[in-house]
Amino acid sequence: MDSYTDSDLKRLSDEREDWSPRDILRWAMETFSPRLGMATAFGAEGCCLLHMLAGLRDDTGKDLYIFNLDTGYQFPETLALRDRFQEKYGLTIHLEGHSQSQEEWEAANGGPVWPQDPDRCCHFRKVLPLRGVMERNLFDAWITAIRRDQTPQRATAGIVERDKKFGIVKVNPLANWTKSDVWKFILDNDVPYNPLHDRGYPSIGCWPCTKAVRPGEDDRAGRWSGSQKTECGIHTELHVSGSGI
Ligand code: SF4
Repeated sequence: MDSYTDSDLKRLSDEREDWSPRDILRWAMETFSPRLGMATAFGAEGCCLLHMLAGLRDDTGKDLYIFNLDTGYQFPETLALRDRFQEKYGLTIHLEGHSQSQEEWEAANGGPVWPQDPDRCCHFRKVLPLRGVMERNLFDAWITAIRRDQTPQRATAGIVERDKKFGIVKVNPLANWTKSDVWKFILDNDVPYNPLHDRGYPSIGCWPCTKAVRPGEDDRAGRWSGSQKTECGIHTELHVSGSGI
């Protein structure tokens, strides 16, 4: 449990409004490590943060717990990118998933659940595993990759705020960045990224529920395309997510 009051968090957030993402991360590492976490689905924003965090880990000697929610339905390109980050930066990126493998889950449910009931599939394959991580009480704070300009719900995100669900601090170092800031950073720093971005997938989740988008379409138009579903439940339940989750 963090010991910050709401006004402490507001002050910390306001003070950091003009800081660079790297300086925000440095502060988070120095303040919360090793009880600091980050969930990543290896979206472009998350890739920027992983690059910065690897450098800061080397500079500060501080570390954090990085994890990927492994639904069993991620693209092979996404899993290969995890390997690439581990190799290039010496990071450990833990896979956290449901106790039932994808095969066991499908066998127990008479086949894939996502075609009929994607909400239930997301709940079991993403939301419950995330809750399981949080119940291990590993963190006083965690880092997200959200940007304010991604959705109306994210427009009011602070640099530092409280995750009300779990009573930990949430740090949003990229809140002020634009999509072009993200891609400039990736290209300038030779940061690995998911090759699906170059094939028309701006937002990448599980393969059954992610399609390429046409030019001019919204970045998240390829997620659960053709259904009313727009979020996996992590956003709404926890009001937080690493980009792409
Ligand atoms: S995004 Fe699709 S496949 Fe992945 S957990 Fe949700 S419904 Fe299941």
